[in-house]
Amino acid sequence: MISENLAHIRATIPEGVTLVAVSKYHPVAALQEAYDAGQRVFGESREMELRDKVKVLPDDIEWHFIGHLQTNKVKYIAPFVTLIHSIDSERLLDEVEKQAVKNNRTIPVLLQLHVAQEESKWGFTPDELIELAKSCDMKSRWPHVEFKGLMGMASFVDDPEQWRQEFRRIVATRDELLKVATCPFADPNNITMSFGMSEDYPIAIQEGSNMVRVGTAIFGAREY
Ligand SMILES: *Cc1c(COP(=O)(O)O)cnc(C)c1O
Repeated sequence: MISENLAHIRATIPEGVTLVAVSKYHPVAALQEAYDAGQRVFGESREMELRDKVKVLPDDIEWHFIGHLQTNKVKYIAPFVTLIHSIDSERLLDEVEKQAVKNNRTIPVLLQLHVAQEESKWGFTPDELIELAKSCDMKSRWPHVEFKGLMGMASFVDDPEQWRQEFRRIVATRDELLKVATCPFADPNNITMSFGMSEDYPIAIQEGSNMVRVGTAIFGAREY
């Protein structure tokens, strides 16, 4: 039961940690069930699927985009998206900036860090991010983009110790960024740290996550 899963997870998450219900590939009825159980923050990873779900679900949902975002599809989510977790290139930032202007808004984002061992995961390396932040021109290059924090994913391995080490790299990168330049973050005292999924969110929270993205543990297995 979705509502029971949600209640269980909420009971284990401390105050100050935001639970993003990752509803990708699940039908609207499942999201509605979570909504009826009080959930208001949902994460999706495909642009068109998100656009279609927004049309039929309640207005007060905060929609997060968490998957790899294609430059040519930013336009479909730009009007309403509350937070893009998965900024992984400067080219994508250029497009988000452009679409934010078109929609007469500012778009909050997280910068995705690549800390996992798999090549297939997207994101900046810690060094690339520090290089990007150093020049301190992020606000002038992308004035309609609000840099809220960092996002990362641990490796697909069954090794909690490795997850922990990778989460520590995300936190260390934030600390390093704050040392070289506080300027990239919209609010350096309130940085969103998005890491932790169904399997590893308890460890993620121990390591300093304040936003967990949980799918399977709420909605069950996904059908692709
Ligand atoms: C699918 C997905 C999740 C949720 O994964 P679960 O293991 O089902 O909790 C979290 N983050 C991202 C980026 C995802 O694509």
